[in-house]
Amino acid sequence: MSNTPWDPQNICEMAIASQENRTCCGRTAKGTSCQNRIKLSVIQKGHQKLVSLGGRPLDLATLELSLRDIVKSFLCVRWHQSQQYNEVAHRWYQTVVHHETQLSRAGHPSIPPSILVQLSEVDPTD
Ligand SMILES: [Zn+2]
Repeated sequence: MSNTPWDPQNICEMAIASQENRTCCGRTAKGTSCQNRIKLSVIQKGHQKLVSLGGRPLDLATLELSLRDIVKSFLCVRWHQSQQYNEVAHRWYQTVVHHETQLSRAGHPSIPPSILVQLSEVDPTD
């Protein structure tokens, strides 16, 4: 089966929300959404990176690393950019894997199902 295009912007819903409100997608210590604003130019850069990520075939081996870089554009410099990018990137990564699993069940995976099987065996707390 050939690779179908995937849309990281759609999958990473938090990025979309951040783009619209231009607020950080980090979480405060109380567990609520951070309301700090992010510069439009920074958000736009992150948006462009997501677009270019979607232009390449989905590669789960490097995805989380790519997301870590992109996620920084959606986190406030003051609190979350240095502290939560790992966590948020991991959340987005899980969302993509979940999305792919659904596509795979529907018979339209962007990546070979065998890779998803391997992933589901990975300890999610890692
Ligand atoms: Zn923040």
